[in-house]
Amino acid sequence: MKTPRKQTHAEIAADIVAAIDASDLKAFGRKLRAWYRKNARDLPWRKTRDPYHILVSELMLQQTQVSRVIDYYDRFLTRFPTLRHVAKAPVGLVLEQWEGLGYYARARNLHKLARTVAPAHAPDGTLPSDPTLLRELPGIGAYTAGAIATFAYEKRAPLVDTNVSRVLLRVFAPEHSPKTAVGQRLAWALAEATLPERGGMAAWEHNQALMELGALVCGARVALCERCPQRGHCEFLARELRIGATSE
Ligand code: SF4
Repeated sequence: MKTPRKQTHAEIAADIVAAIDASDLKAFGRKLRAWYRKNARDLPWRKTRDPYHILVSELMLQQTQVSRVIDYYDRFLTRFPTLRHVAKAPVGLVLEQWEGLGYYARARNLHKLARTVAPAHAPDGTLPSDPTLLRELPGIGAYTAGAIATFAYEKRAPLVDTNVSRVLLRVFAPEHSPKTAVGQRLAWALAEATLPERGGMAAWEHNQALMELGALVCGARVALCERCPQRGHCEFLARELRIGATSE
């Protein structure tokens, strides 16, 4: 008898998502966006759709706190208003403006990206909107490609960072860790499945809201479940409550 083929991580993730009630996926998004409208922080990169500005904010926000990034973001854009300005500058000047923010590979990648992109795609200072094309650029991974596609172009593009995977897995599949290959696939599949059907402002708002919930409420160390719009259908919270009830 033939041994059945082992499922791939992507297939396992797809099966888990397919077993979730579609109305739960929709309700998650609806509650998330309603919460965001009342609780979102006023951040400078949320007031623009300029792909270059979004790129700079996303690179700066990697491994760095929002409060630290705000000053650097404004200063950097004053010094380099477009991607072409970055491309024309020597790398040392770009690094100078990054001084103190750390993780200098981000600044070097931005400079490299500007020189790669400017002649081909960006005579007018724009970046491609397709996440697949974005991923071909230096320093742009799956998350950043999704962020530029959705935050600059309002595309219906999923994005997953550590905050987003934590929220999605806690709500729908807390038995899976975001540190495993299946957990990662699952987080991406859930990010896609919970997006509103159309792009535009709803997709933009949805992805901003996912990140905001992970940053402000569903923290890695502390989850403020009593303030969370997902508390009525969060598997992680339900499990915690069950454990609490049996240990009393
Ligand atoms: S209910 Fe708690 S654990 Fe669940 S998503 Fe909200 S904050 Fe996170």
